[in-house]
Parts: sequence; structure tokens; C-alpha cells
Amino acid sequence: MVGFHRANQAGEPFTAFNPRTGEALDPSFFSSGPDDVERAAGLADKAFAVYGRASGREKAKFLRTIATKIEATVDELVERAELESALPKPRLTGETARTCGQLRMFADVVEEGSWVMARIDRADAERKPAPKPDLRSMLLPLGPVAIFGASNFPLAFSVAGGDTASALAAGNPVIVKAHPAHPGTSELVGQLLQESVRECGLPEGVFSLLFDAGNNAGVALVKHPRVKAVGFTGSRNGGRALMDVAAARPDPIPVFAEMSSTNPVFILPGALRERCDAVANGLHASFTIGAGQFCTKPGMVFLPEGVSDQPFIANLQKLVQESKPFNLLTAGIRSAYQSSVARRKTESGVRLSAERSSPGGGSEIGVNPSLFETDVQSFLQNPELAGEVFGPATLLVRHSRRTDLLKVASGLEGHLTATIHGTEDDLHEFRDLLAILTSKVGRLVFNSFPTGVEVSHAMVHGGPYPATSDGRSTSVGSQAIFRFCRPVCYQGFPQAALPDELRDQNPLKIWRLLDGATTRESIS
Ligand code: NAP
Repeated sequence: MVGFHRANQAGEPFTAFNPRTGEALDPSFFSSGPDDVERAAGLADKAFAVYGRASGREKAKFLRTIATKIEATVDELVERAELESALPKPRLTGETARTCGQLRMFADVVEEGSWVMARIDRADAERKPAPKPDLRSMLLPLGPVAIFGASNFPLAFSVAGGDTASALAAGNPVIVKAHPAHPGTSELVGQLLQESVRECGLPEGVFSLLFDAGNNAGVALVKHPRVKAVGFTGSRNGGRALMDVAAARPDPIPVFAEMSSTNPVFILPGALRERCDAVANGLHASFTIGAGQFCTKPGMVFLPEGVSDQPFIANLQKLVQESKPFNLLTAGIRSAYQSSVARRKTESGVRLSAERSSPGGGSEIGVNPSLFETDVQSFLQNPELAGEVFGPATLLVRHSRRTDLLKVASGLEGHLTATIHGTEDDLHEFRDLLAILTSKVGRLVFNSFPTGVEVSHAMVHGGPYPATSDGRSTSVGSQAIFRFCRPVCYQGFPQAALPDELRDQNPLKIWRLLDGATTRESIS
């Protein structure tokens, strides 16, 4: 879908596959070629001249129109997404609601308008030794943004998902590269976006949707001189490859990639003493929800030896043995999971603590959840053990010395989250652990679990590399809008030439920083 048109169907055909049966799903889709990329980027650039200046009210209307159309199509969307992803219908219905909630949240943010962080420093002609100029700055959109849909969120992080919503909210045209695992769902949502662009009287290049059986279209998009930023959710290899392509351009552009995270969990002695069963139950639910295919899945758990660790492990083993088998999103993800689990079974110092008792669950396609155990010395010696296993597996790391725990924490790469289970006394005793973790992750969780990412204003879903390509950003929550804009300062301009946000009268009644103080007042 290039603007209002269907792209040519000359490219390599491909289909989605039903992850439950392995069967190909009709219809065929066609890989976008260089002409499609060129036209989509050209139209997006043209549209930017208009859409980049759209008012908050116009953008809000557009985002709400998309949400309303998604709601009106929910049954069809959920049916197709279930076929393509094997995710359960209730989860997909919830994901649809989340998608619409995100669109509406950004609509509210841009309609209210203060997100542009308007700042005004008034001139002072009398200042000595030199007069002070009139300076006014605000955030402005970047230009066309390429968004890569995620495999694990066919709705909430795909065509009309959080990346698209935040880029559109900031005033950027969007070109989505659909994830090849769910092209049918992507097409349905793409049509709703296309209709919304028309209905809101916006230029057609505000939205395009490209498909690809391989990587060519995605790489061409990231290289295209008209594309000014990239949003990506997926593997570290994929994200890193796109970061490198973007950095090698004559004019490098930002890539906001959300990649791998193992989300360490630290269970402190007080939690084991007071809530041993609750923590085991919660951990099991958290590493198996969504078949463990969440970027926030807890994949390594640090457990003190000696204090109720045996009942904790026994409980967790039982839960894993009694678990159902899981269908993973794609054949590629399934084989990556199976080979990671097989490799982990052979790692020195690691043992399989529990696995679902009936292998395969009667289905060749289902995979079993796995619980592994190791000791802290083996963990410290083998960096592989801190890596992401995408699927329903986790690793318990047993330790007996506080110094080892701090060494582990200090050696961690960047992650999206870190979780601490403990009492307030534990928190005080382990305050040095908390201080270390603060520098390693985007979100710290206390006595809860990292899965289930709230979409809200304070949420941070980011973290230092390799969790993301830029740890100063979040891909979930209203602050995600800041990825796709940049500050521009106007020096000495007359009122009539300034954007509404920076005019003396403050016609939009937004919050502004006026000579260093936050206010909604106009300047008399
Ligand atoms: P992926 O392989 O990284 O693919 C994501 C998207 O990027 C797809 O559209 C893919 O297109 C494209 N892509 C990948 N490598 C590329 C490259 N070198 N050049 C251009 N485009 C590229 O992610 P996935 O399909 O979800 O694969 C599953 C793995 O990703 C999991 O095993 C897991 O490790 C990770 N994952 C992580 C998260 C997270 O939230 N952190 C979420 C989902 C997946 P093609 O498929 O056509 O290559």
C-alpha cells in the first residue's frame, strides 16, 4: 500500500503460516521492490510538508479515527491475528484495546499540546555587557519515519502500534515494513489507516505499508535519503543490522531499536521467607505468559541459597512440569527456542531443573517450558547464560555471597527491566544492589513482575544498549513521542512568523517555560 494505491505485485510472493499447524495461509503477499520504496518515501516526504505542520487537533482527530476503525473491525482482526500468531483470542482482543488506547493517549497528548516543550527566553536589550536576544524553542517532527512491525505484538507493536502512533502524533509520515509473520493482520490494519488518512483529508503519503519476504525492502527504507528515523522491535541481530545501515548513510539517522533483554530478577532473603509460594507462582506465570515471547520476560533469576530456596525451587519445578505446551509465533522462533534450550542443557555448570513432563504435548509444533539452574560461579564464567532465550524458559542462579551478587549486577548488560523481590529491610540492606541496577535498566520493579507493561505517561520501556539502541528513550508510554522530534530554536523572529506554540498570546493555552518558570500565561 503506497499512499492511497496498491503497490505493484511483481515482487517475490510469500504467505503467512499458521503456527499451530505449519500450514500456509492464503492469500499470497508480494515483496515490495525498489520502486515501491521510492514512491512511498517520495510521497511521505511530500506529505511531511503538510502533515508536519498539522495542528494538534487535526492529528488527534486522525489518531482517534484510526482507533475507532480498529474497534469496529476487532472481530476480523482478532480472527486473522489468531491464525497468523497462535496467540489466544482474549490476548489479541486485549491487544486491540491496547492499540486503540495508545492511539487515544497520543491523541490527548497532542491535542493538549504542551508536549512540544515550548520555551521562551525574553530579550533584554539593556543587558550588559551584551544585549540578550529573544529565544523561543519547541519540538518539531523529524520527517518520514520507517517502522518495523514486531512479531510478538501483531497489533500493539505493528502497523498501528505504539511506534506508529507516537511517530504520527509528533507529525511524521510513517512507512511501515510489515512483519512477515502476520501480513494479513498488517494488511487489514493498513487499510484502516489508509481510510483514516482519506477521511481526515490528509495527504496520501502520511501512511504507506510495505511487505517483504526478506530484508531488502527494510534495508532500502533505512537507506532512503527521505527517511529520517527508524523504529524497530525485534532481535538484537536485526536491530543492530539496521543501526549499522543507518549509521553508514552519508547522513546518519537515528534508529530506535528495542532488542533483546533478559530482565534479571533478584529474590532477596526476606521475600523467600515471607512469600516463597507467591513469588514462585508469580515467576512461573511471568516467564510463561505469551509463551515467554515478551521482551520483558524474566530470563534470569538470582536466588540466595539456604533460606527457603528448596521449597521455592520445588514449587517452581512442579508448576513447570504441569505446564501446558506452547505454540510459538513462527517456525524460526520455535527452532531458535529449541536450539537455545538444547544448547543450555549442555552448558558447563547448568542443569535442567524441570521441563514439562510429557514432551511435545502430543503436537510436533508445541514446545515445552524449561527451568534451568546454575551456580553463580558458572554464571559469571559464561556470558552466554545472560543471553535472551525467546520462549518459555528461565534460569535460576543460586548464590551464597552478597559480593557475588553485586559482581553479577555490576557485570550486567543493559536490560529493559530489573526486578527485586524483598522486604523493605532487604531493600535497605541491598541498597548498593539497587544503585547498580539503576544504571543498567529502564524500569525497576519491586515485588511484582516485569511482564505486563502499562501504557501511561510515566512508563519507561527502554534501557541501555543492547536492550535498546538509545537508552535515553522509551518505546511505550506517552514519552515515546520524544523519539521522533527535535528541538528547534527561533531567535529574534516577529510574532507573525512564529508557530502558535511560541507566540506571546499563547493561543493554544499550553504549558511553557517562560524565562525559566512553568506557566500557561500569555505574555502581555
Ligand atoms: P527479527 O528477526 O529481528 O525481525 C524483526 C523485523 O526486522 C522483521 O520485519 C525482519 O524482517 C526485519 N529484519 C530482521 N533482520 C533484518 C536485517 N538484517 N535487515 C533488515 N531487516 C531485518 O525479529 P523476529 O522476527 O521477531 O525474530 C524473533 C527473534 O527476535 C526472537 O528470537 C527474539 O530474540 C527477538 N525478539 C525480541 C523482541 C523484543 O521485544 N525484545 C520482540 C520480538 C522478537 P524479516 O523477518 O523479513 O527478516
